[in-house]
Amino acid sequence: MTATALYASRMWPPVRRGAGEATDSTLDLLYRLGLVARTGATGVHTLLPLGLRVHERMSAIARSAFEERGALTFAAPTLQSRALWEKTGRWQAYQAEGALLTVRSSSGEEMCLAPTSEEIAAATVGEHLRSFRDLPVRLFLSTSKFRDELSPRGGLMRGREFTMADAYTFDASTHGMRESVAFLNDACTAALTGMGLSGVFQARADGGAISAGPSTEHLVLSDAGQSTIVACDHCGNRGDGAVTPALPPPPPDAPVVNVIAFILTHPDGDIQPAAVAIRSDLKVSTRKVAAATGALRVALIEPQDLPGILGKEAGTLTPWDVAGSPDTLLLFDSSVAELDEFAISDGGDGLRSGLSWEGDRRLPALKVSGRGRDLAEAVDGSRCTRCPGTHRQVRAVEVAHVFELGTQYSQPMKLAFTDTAGRDAVPWMACSGIGITRCMQTAADLHRDHHGLRWKPGTGPADVHVTVLRADQAQMRERTDRLVQDLTARGLSLLVDDRPLAAGEKLRYARLLGLPHAAVLSPDRPDDEIEVINRWTGRTTITQTSHIPRMAAPG
Ligand SMILES: [Zn+2]
Repeated sequence: MTATALYASRMWPPVRRGAGEATDSTLDLLYRLGLVARTGATGVHTLLPLGLRVHERMSAIARSAFEERGALTFAAPTLQSRALWEKTGRWQAYQAEGALLTVRSSSGEEMCLAPTSEEIAAATVGEHLRSFRDLPVRLFLSTSKFRDELSPRGGLMRGREFTMADAYTFDASTHGMRESVAFLNDACTAALTGMGLSGVFQARADGGAISAGPSTEHLVLSDAGQSTIVACDHCGNRGDGAVTPALPPPPPDAPVVNVIAFILTHPDGDIQPAAVAIRSDLKVSTRKVAAATGALRVALIEPQDLPGILGKEAGTLTPWDVAGSPDTLLLFDSSVAELDEFAISDGGDGLRSGLSWEGDRRLPALKVSGRGRDLAEAVDGSRCTRCPGTHRQVRAVEVAHVFELGTQYSQPMKLAFTDTAGRDAVPWMACSGIGITRCMQTAADLHRDHHGLRWKPGTGPADVHVTVLRADQAQMRERTDRLVQDLTARGLSLLVDDRPLAAGEKLRYARLLGLPHAAVLSPDRPDDEIEVINRWTGRTTITQTSHIPRMAAPG
């Protein structure tokens, strides 16, 4: 960003007297101080001049983090053809999820406003890929992405249109892909740290619609977060409940065993019904079932399909029914394997209680002890597998996500290269995404204090907030001009409050907006002397104007 000065007297929207309160929520401060604005469309925001500067700086920080590590930046269109998305089956997958925004051209061509760019990145690389010598390829791009959120909320936290800085890597082998995954995690960490996001941690996660493989979330603990994760209260191990290994929480007084039925799709295309016996207070993790069975996909059997597949109505299936069916895989979650006594629902007459795996005159014995596996989502109260600690549910913001993609995209899109032995091979992909707009609000929320916003050096709307007292005096205007020339020439960007207002109101505005440094130009001080307030330490220093660049250098 070029070092320029913005003037509060000429700002749009105008800086209103008394706008914003230190007690406002972070999002309200972003609105009231004129960084972002709502539009008529839910989940779609305008970046106003001050907010756009934050956005540009954070985007530049992300781009540098990837380029410094060897990635090349390209720009891909957001408008992408249905034909492209059909190649990987994601047109249907995203539509089924209700997340794809689609448009139709006047000639009838169907397109989407892309929520992510795996297909276009693969197509771009595939066109020029010839040999193993061309690999690895590591590409970075930062564009608007679109997602048809059912309930956009939290301002910039979850919008329908947002900026995502993503990267796509292509390697000749799994080993290469793992190196690229390390590269992506490293670059994301550098980018997030550069944006002033402190306390970012990585956690195993669910790849969702992007990846069937392992993924790593970069998260910041925050009550404003929209991700719920589990954290061990003893060793601190944290992660998405769907993939975090756990021991079940202690059983309730009268445990109930449910049976949940799924269809497994195996890598060879074979399809098999599976039933998971689990305590009724827990939820089956399809990711854990996939990991335990080696299945590519694990899909819940809809209640209306259950009689046709397993011969029982929903809610009436018992482990004993499934144990007698040779085609159905019966799995026991560890929450049920060691239960001495429990109840089951087998329809109609409510619960049958007082059952055990030992069997009784009603039911034969089932050999379950020792067969329990970790198939449940980790929840508040489940136990850590690494230490004697207990999981607690905490809220976090997902600020970045790194995915191992394998050949999930390159295979169907027919990417190929000649390997070292001269054979045709398919490249291995990985990708990452950093939510730039989400990071803006998260950084603002993370660092704000009881005086207002507080930006890390290098990330705010400007580096120095210059408050000019008695800005109506010609002599002060001259001093301001000299200072602006001097500081912008030394690479600092400024916000100059030259409004003809009382000092108190202008200092209040400087504190609320929270640029890293505020400089107060006062007629009561000699020409070259200035008061500088560090918004982070609260310390006020009287210094020479020539010292400001050293004090306020971004980064
Ligand atoms: Zn632990």
